[in-house]
Amino acid sequence: MRTKPRNVVNTSQREWRRIVTALLAALAVIVTVVTMLVLSALNDVAQNTNKLDEERSRETITGALETFQAQLGATLNDYAAWDDAAQFVYAANGHDWVVSNYGDMTVNSELFDTALVIDENNRVQMFYQFGQPVLRSPQELFPTGLTELLKTVRQIPFGQNPETTGFVQSDRGITVVGAALIRPKMALDVPAGETRRYLVFARHLDTAKIKRLSKTYVVDGLQLRKANFDARYFVNIFSPQGEVLGKLTWRSRAPGDVSFREVRPTVLLAVVIAGLFFLTLFFVGSKIIGRIKTDEAHAKEEALRDRLSGLYNRAGLFQRLEQMVAKARLGSDDVNLLYLDLDGFKEVNDSYGHGTGDRLIKGVAAGLKMLVPQDAVLARLGGDEFAVAINGPYSKQQCLDLCEACLLLFSEPFVIGERVATIGCSIGVATSERGEVDGEELLRRADMAMYEAKENGRGRWVSYHEQLDTEREDRNMLEADLRRAIEKDELTVVFQPVVSAKSRRITGVEALVRWNRDGHGPVSPEVFIPVAETSGLIDQLGLIVLRKACMTARRWPEIKLSVNISPVQFRNPSFSTSVHDVLRQTQMEPERLRLEMTEGYFIQHPERASFVIEKLKALGVQIALDDFGAGFASVGYLRRFGFNRMKIDRSLVAALENGGRSLDMLEATVALARSLEIPVTAEGVESVEQASILQLCGCDELQGYLFSKPVSPEEVTLLLERQKATLPRDEQRAFG
Ligand code: C2E
Ligand code: CA
Ligand code: CA
Repeated sequence: MRTKPRNVVNTSQREWRRIVTALLAALAVIVTVVTMLVLSALNDVAQNTNKLDEERSRETITGALETFQAQLGATLNDYAAWDDAAQFVYAANGHDWVVSNYGDMTVNSELFDTALVIDENNRVQMFYQFGQPVLRSPQELFPTGLTELLKTVRQIPFGQNPETTGFVQSDRGITVVGAALIRPKMALDVPAGETRRYLVFARHLDTAKIKRLSKTYVVDGLQLRKANFDARYFVNIFSPQGEVLGKLTWRSRAPGDVSFREVRPTVLLAVVIAGLFFLTLFFVGSKIIGRIKTDEAHAKEEALRDRLSGLYNRAGLFQRLEQMVAKARLGSDDVNLLYLDLDGFKEVNDSYGHGTGDRLIKGVAAGLKMLVPQDAVLARLGGDEFAVAINGPYSKQQCLDLCEACLLLFSEPFVIGERVATIGCSIGVATSERGEVDGEELLRRADMAMYEAKENGRGRWVSYHEQLDTEREDRNMLEADLRRAIEKDELTVVFQPVVSAKSRRITGVEALVRWNRDGHGPVSPEVFIPVAETSGLIDQLGLIVLRKACMTARRWPEIKLSVNISPVQFRNPSFSTSVHDVLRQTQMEPERLRLEMTEGYFIQHPERASFVIEKLKALGVQIALDDFGAGFASVGYLRRFGFNRMKIDRSLVAALENGGRSLDMLEATVALARSLEIPVTAEGVESVEQASILQLCGCDELQGYLFSKPVSPEEVTLLLERQKATLPRDEQRAFG
């Protein structure tokens, strides 16, 4: 991985971090809210508990006061409705009894601390407090309340208990006071005529009493306060007239708060544990998700990679290219794309197998990696196609330098294990200035330029220019027209005579295809044959020419027929069968047919070429090597294919004009062929001088404008007829 797309990973990481932060924040909020809810619920429970406790305390205290009052009432009843009392209190000498039974009882008594016997006319009979006679008047000790109580008891109608109790303000504080008519136990009144005497008991709500109440009723901090005292927990003490005399206050034990304080740490702990649990869950989960994310990013990255070479694939290149173009648009840089196609890779694959082919691709990838600049993007687009994208201010020059470096790299053979493969490359270059051309178009342009490099002879680089598009368009139109012409059977065949070097008599003809393109006029086969070869039309076209030529040649049984065969046709496995079919259909004698082929295919696929040649020869057909001398193969090398004839290329013949070395070369070539017993035809003979030199060199057949241009079948017939007629003169001239 040389140029990892960091920004892709970065984006997903950043996104991931954002998700984690958001989730953590959400978790924190949830934990806080849950904690608050739980605490608030607990607090509600605590408050309710506190309220219940407060109510209980209030009821208890109220009850205690009532009990306190009732107790005094009961005591009073005991002492007032008493037969002895009814006797002594109303007796003249009863004073001692009254003192000892009422007055003395006020000492240390839990029941009452003040005793007063008073008659209907408010005359005090006895008045004791804390065991001592009181010298002051009852009104002084009980400034309010007592008078009202006495009034009440006096007004109680006959038939009801003449007794009453109530809280009263005394000089010592608040006290419960009871007043009752002193009477016989079973009576509700005293005998008529008697002045009614009343017994008054009082019991002060002193500190000791309150302390005892506090203890008995389990209410903390019970205290007697003034009526206007501000307290939260209290019970009012009312006078019989409904006036607030004072209040008993206490301290709430707030059992809810206590419980709340007790459980709060536990709750907090539980929440913390739950929070930790979720946090752990969250982190474990995020780790897992993180790993899945990484795997996913990895898979995505993988999808942009070519398995074999480890380089980017087409999709990867496109992605990076679009990024580069976008960047170039912002920074007004250029993006340069180099499109490289291997020459001869298919041959390596075919002859050494796919294993070797794969190793070669890896080797090429490794080689290219060494050459491309640091921040360039290197991709493998398909079988044997590579691309390099470079951007930046110097990218154009970098790209051109790289082209040269690539050509240099491929000038050396590649060593694959024990094998050595010589392959080349054709390169197309296209530039997107300031990102004006998008990735797809850039790739198309570079591809187009590469195609042009291949067309122009491979092993070179071509920079895209707009003319290529026009050329391609023209070519496409030509292809379409050619297809139509084949369908409409518009192709014709002309024949160029081949003469014997010695007798100059026609010994054969070469069939040459002609196309009069609708609206354009005649098109050279040198233009449309290559188009037919790349478009797949050549098989059909070649067979049409072969069939037409064979059909026509039936008119000339005495001469041979040469037909040109494209290497593309030769590659087709069914070629020999097709030839066989044509021979049968046209009833052409196989011995008269000569198939002309150029050397290229024999050099590239020697084994296969031999195989096909054997098959064709088995049909009885002859094979001629066309255009010899235009390529690089030596006669010796070509000998192994068993050609029946060799045709010396026009260019060699034309070069004879320059004299010197060309003549030596021609002589040597023909001599070698002859020594291998391969007869030689010279083509493109235009002058008498050329003809005689070629004849001297040893060519046994000559062909060229000197003898005849390619002509119609009718003209061939005419020529042959004329030849028959002028036989003696020709022979004469030949020997003369
Ligand atoms: P070629 O096989 O070398 O054919 C000979 C070419 O040289 C013909 O061009 C012919 O017109 C031309 N020629 C003949 N004598 C002279 C001469 O004295 N001087 C000059 N300057 N030229 C001469 P043509 O017909 O244009 O064909 C060009 C090439 O197209 C052929 O070269 C052949 O490679 C290809 N071709 C033509 N017809 C067919 C065909 O039916 N099938 C295939 N596969 N290729 C064909
Ligand atoms: Ca030929
Ligand atoms: Ca030729």
